[in-house]
Amino acid sequence: MTTTTGGDSPTPVTVLGLGAMGSAIARTFLDRGHPVTVWNRTAGKAAPLAEAGASVAAGAAEAAAASPLVVVCLLDYDAVDAVLADVGGAVEGKALVNLTSGSPAQARATERWAAEHGAAYIDGGIMADPPDLGTSHAHFSFSGSRAAFEAHEPTLMELGNGTYYGEDAGLASVEFMAQVGTAYELLIGFLHTLRLVKAEGADPAEFADRVADSVAASYPPLISGIGKAVRDGAFPPDMGPLSVQAALMDDLIEHRRSNGVDTTRMVEVKRLMDRRIADGHGEEGFSGLFPLLGEKG
Ligand code: NAP
Repeated sequence: MTTTTGGDSPTPVTVLGLGAMGSAIARTFLDRGHPVTVWNRTAGKAAPLAEAGASVAAGAAEAAAASPLVVVCLLDYDAVDAVLADVGGAVEGKALVNLTSGSPAQARATERWAAEHGAAYIDGGIMADPPDLGTSHAHFSFSGSRAAFEAHEPTLMELGNGTYYGEDAGLASVEFMAQVGTAYELLIGFLHTLRLVKAEGADPAEFADRVADSVAASYPPLISGIGKAVRDGAFPPDMGPLSVQAALMDDLIEHRRSNGVDTTRMVEVKRLMDRRIADGHGEEGFSGLFPLLGEKG
């Protein structure tokens, strides 16, 4: 089903969507010598890429027909659905790579659309800023058609570092959503802590530098250890036993409250610690809170 260009010739690539990320994708492929065809709803955004050597198609279907590898990078799945409705059968026999952020269910639905239109489907998540594309700082998750991924892996890897998670098209999104979610969950706590630091008159930037140093030094083994504990269902005393950690919680909460800083998450942590200790698990570490966080697994 999937075709690649023979010999050493760079594979022609079509890019649908020329926002900040789609433009960076198209430019990276141009820089690596690929023939690139582009299309965007707002046609003017194609001008800089045309100057750099891209062919500009008049419509999404015409653009898709131009290359064996069709990359879609749009704002969201409403945009993807709208553009693919116009593309229709023009993707038959091609590899359709969708790098638009969305849920696993949306990825699987788009895979079904691709199958109905005779295309091999690869879903991808981008964990990078547009300027990082084409460098080792750009990380991608991929899943979906293994044959199409293997056929186009060298081309896709020109965008950055990529990992293929398997044939289920939703798996790239599982990784993407979990990576992005981790960042938001950690960083909202960090922002609240900076409120506390600022309220106490300390320098937030200097404090952040110290946190960055400690994150680099001590968090990797802690995070890996917590992952292993959750997988194994055995919770060693990471960060010390819960019974000792819990003794500090009231002071942490009161310190925040007295400085007018939100205590929602810290109160939640204390509530979980108290429950776990009451259940007879006070010797466990912070990872021991995991069994209280949901019904599944
Ligand atoms: P963007 O600059 O806002 O561009 C959005 C693109 O979607 C434009 O090409 C826009 O076309 C198109 N679009 C929106 N609605 C449309 C519709 N109904 N029909 C047709 N086209 C439509 O966003 P971006 O930064 O390129 O992001 C694209 C994807 O990459 C998103 O899923 C985002 O989550 C992901 N991503 C971005 C970053 C980042 O740092 N930028 C990082 C990681 C992942 P018009 O030009 O016509 O409006």
